[in-house]
Amino acid sequence: MPCTRTRLTPQTLPQQALWHPYTQMQAMAAPLEIVGGAGPRMTLASGETLLDATCSWWCMIHGYGHPRLVSAIQAQAAELCHVMLGGIRHRPAVELAEALVRITPAGLNHVFFSDSGSVGMEVAMKMAVQYQQQRKDRDDTKGRTRMLSLMKAYHGDTAGCMAVCDPEEGMHSLFADFLPKHYFAPAPTAGFTASREAVEADIAGLRACLEAHHHEIAALLMEPLLQAAGGLNMYSPFYLEAARTLCDEFGVVLIFDEVATGFGRTGKLFACEHASVTPDIMVLSKGLTGGYLGHAATLAQSHIFHAFDGEDANTAFMHGPTFMGNPLACRVALESLKVFEEDNYLAKIAELNQVLREELLDFSHPAIRDIRVLGATAVIEVHDARSLEGAQEHARAQGVWLRPFGRWLYTMPAYITSHDDLRQITRAMTSHFTTLS
Ligand SMILES: *Cc1c(COP(=O)(O)O)cnc(C)c1O
Repeated sequence: MPCTRTRLTPQTLPQQALWHPYTQMQAMAAPLEIVGGAGPRMTLASGETLLDATCSWWCMIHGYGHPRLVSAIQAQAAELCHVMLGGIRHRPAVELAEALVRITPAGLNHVFFSDSGSVGMEVAMKMAVQYQQQRKDRDDTKGRTRMLSLMKAYHGDTAGCMAVCDPEEGMHSLFADFLPKHYFAPAPTAGFTASREAVEADIAGLRACLEAHHHEIAALLMEPLLQAAGGLNMYSPFYLEAARTLCDEFGVVLIFDEVATGFGRTGKLFACEHASVTPDIMVLSKGLTGGYLGHAATLAQSHIFHAFDGEDANTAFMHGPTFMGNPLACRVALESLKVFEEDNYLAKIAELNQVLREELLDFSHPAIRDIRVLGATAVIEVHDARSLEGAQEHARAQGVWLRPFGRWLYTMPAYITSHDDLRQITRAMTSHFTTLS
């Protein structure tokens, strides 16, 4: 058979050469073309600006075109754009590893870099499985190769990560037969401010899963306090404390996926600080570089790290993404951290939280099921996804970029967003409901 090819015509080319994520391309409206950005706003080709309520999937925490981050990349580019970490090293990677050890909870002393949040989670899971084979302090963990995840979890789109995303609600159910089977505990239901007693039922559900399957479970993984892409479920710090205790009891590695929650999103630098709980392994990405380049860090406590010691090369951690520790990404991450500390972002986040509460928590409409605010995150959850139809266009007409998904209309603004701009965002969210009949 001769190989035939169809070439895209000029009419279809601008729409279809570029395949967009999570999008039915056949029905896709002409996408907005972004040519630049400044602060919380993106600039369109037409010159119009749009206030970004999502800070580009939650990573552009300093907004667009931040002069210090841009010049950090430029200066590093002039010195060294990339070099591998196999057998050689460079200052930006060493300094970023040291900085992350300094700012994360005490005990997370070792940093393994990779290029995205999903890969950072893959690294964490692989590390946990190998640790269970090689640890010397227990002998009942050798055969443990399953993960325990939570319903409503989202940990990324690679195969290993899909397998630990919510198997029912997620967008991954199509791949069920392709993926390894893991265990899932019920999603926590008691909210952020729930009393200790109110969290007991959630904890009992987690304990039941561990009691039944711990001999197969290498690690428990969770997005601490905020299950983000799975529906912005906000839950109690007591649940994290219980997870820590249960993992110790059952010899299970505790992995916190702080890809979304890290760098201030829940009001503390890391969500686990709300509970004073230190996981065995923690994963950071999204805000790590201020969103300016893709990168991730998987941090491990020393008992994990030293389980890889030995004479045999195969007890080493056999993993190494090409772009791990990329100098540009590390340099901009270091600058991002400096700005975060020098400009006191945690205070800014506390103020944004205040504005979100004032503007949203008293709002109500029959279509709305719940409104939740945590740190610089707010969500309006509706009963039926259809009541969010038109919300994006409605916001766009008011100069705001919102990207609702499922039953969730949310904002995770850049931390440099002014209070007036934040009110413009919350009003674009609430006024959508007044357009419903
Ligand atoms: C976004 C996200 C990921 C995946 O990160 P990518 O960089 O998109 O691969 C993993 N975990 C959580 C909690 C996330 O929000």
